[in-house]
Amino acid sequence: MNIHAISRDTLSTLLEMAKSQHPLEFVALLIAEDGVLSDINLLPGTRLDERSASIFTDMIPLGMSFAGSAHSHPNGVIHPSDADISFFPRFGSCHLIIGYPYGPDDWQAFSRDGTPRGLEVLP
Ligand SMILES: [Zn+2]
Repeated sequence: MNIHAISRDTLSTLLEMAKSQHPLEFVALLIAEDGVLSDINLLPGTRLDERSASIFTDMIPLGMSFAGSAHSHPNGVIHPSDADISFFPRFGSCHLIIGYPYGPDDWQAFSRDGTPRGLEVLP
């Protein structure tokens, strides 16, 4: 599936979640409809902490498939870590990193290999 956009509601929900979780890291998986990221899937019982991006991968039920992911970097560095780059390919093709202070422009989308990519925000 080719992801080309995210809905504004989904993006602002992600920014709010990242903000409310600060200074801990927040992770969510994203579901797309017609190429638009439009839904957030938080698995029940997910424990969020600074290492959640790597712990998280062990908690995904087999057979679930996702369009992408979103997670926060409380240190404000909007760049994928080595752990992120090994995490991305397992969960779809479009991965958002949201950085402190979680304002409307404090995020970037990356492709599965960690390269920055464009992502349209739909009204
Ligand atoms: Zn990260």
